[in-house]
Amino acid sequence: MHYKPVDSSVSPRFTGVPTFARLPLVEDLTDVDLAVLGVPFDTGVSNRPGGRFAPNAIRLASIMIRQYNPNLDVSPFEVLSCVDHGDVTIVPGFTEVSYERMEAGVAEVVAAGAVPLLLGGDHACTLGHLRGMRAHGPLGLVVTDSHHDAWDNFYGQRYTHGTWVLRAIEEGLIDPARSIIVGLRGSLYDAQDWKLLDDLGIAYLPAEQALDLGMPAVAERVRERLGDGKAFFSFDIDFVDPAYAPGTGTPEAAGPTSRQALHLVRALTGIDFVGFDVVEVIPAYDPTGITSNLAANVAFEMLSLVALRRLAASGAAA
Ligand code: MN
Ligand code: MN
Repeated sequence: MHYKPVDSSVSPRFTGVPTFARLPLVEDLTDVDLAVLGVPFDTGVSNRPGGRFAPNAIRLASIMIRQYNPNLDVSPFEVLSCVDHGDVTIVPGFTEVSYERMEAGVAEVVAAGAVPLLLGGDHACTLGHLRGMRAHGPLGLVVTDSHHDAWDNFYGQRYTHGTWVLRAIEEGLIDPARSIIVGLRGSLYDAQDWKLLDDLGIAYLPAEQALDLGMPAVAERVRERLGDGKAFFSFDIDFVDPAYAPGTGTPEAAGPTSRQALHLVRALTGIDFVGFDVVEVIPAYDPTGITSNLAANVAFEMLSLVALRRLAASGAAA
């Protein structure tokens, strides 16, 4: 069985029940290479809530996704058998039990030998995602975000969308020496704020520097940092300038355009990504749907990276 999207040149894209990229909604993960999983959890936020509605908003926007990626010259859905695996049944208001549900949901995908592509939810979700990826061992990590999310606590609480990076290091889920955060900007709590990352041994590239370097050079730096080992890619939509992605909870002015953001994602070829998430979309602040549209396209570029790598591996074997 090879699962792939409904062809929008055969049936109109606005028909049917919206799933990611019009993929079949499938529970049984046999014969699945990549599973899209919604994580509608927004209890971890420090400002605007509403990310619980993001997975379905991104699915609705993703009906525009076609099957060929001209920038990477790949038809990812031909290479990979892909499904929409539905949502994790989180418990609103209760972070730790929700983390257990996320871990179990992601671990099920990993155990089936498939790559999870997760649609958040707020960024607190990523700790649950990484716990679910534990079978892969400590992972390299690339985060695109205007915030470093490595603070110790907010209001005395250890599990929030601003603390998951530190928790992931403490729990041995990621290898700081193979991790990098790109896109930091905005006002800070104090002069030492970003220096926290130096103490943790995690690399970072502020937005100003990244934009001066240009996305191909940023991608090269990420590739060097992550090396050959397995890696996870977490895309916080607030990485992108709020002029292009207004539908988010803690917007920071003057970031990359949507074009620059997509350019960076698709430039990250050659990395062994075993999981992805796209987080912090809030549809209530996204009246035209542009933020969800971008999130859907980010996810498409991510799964295209997996397909390209799979193709290269089978070419090498042949
Ligand atoms: Mn974040
Ligand atoms: Mn952020």
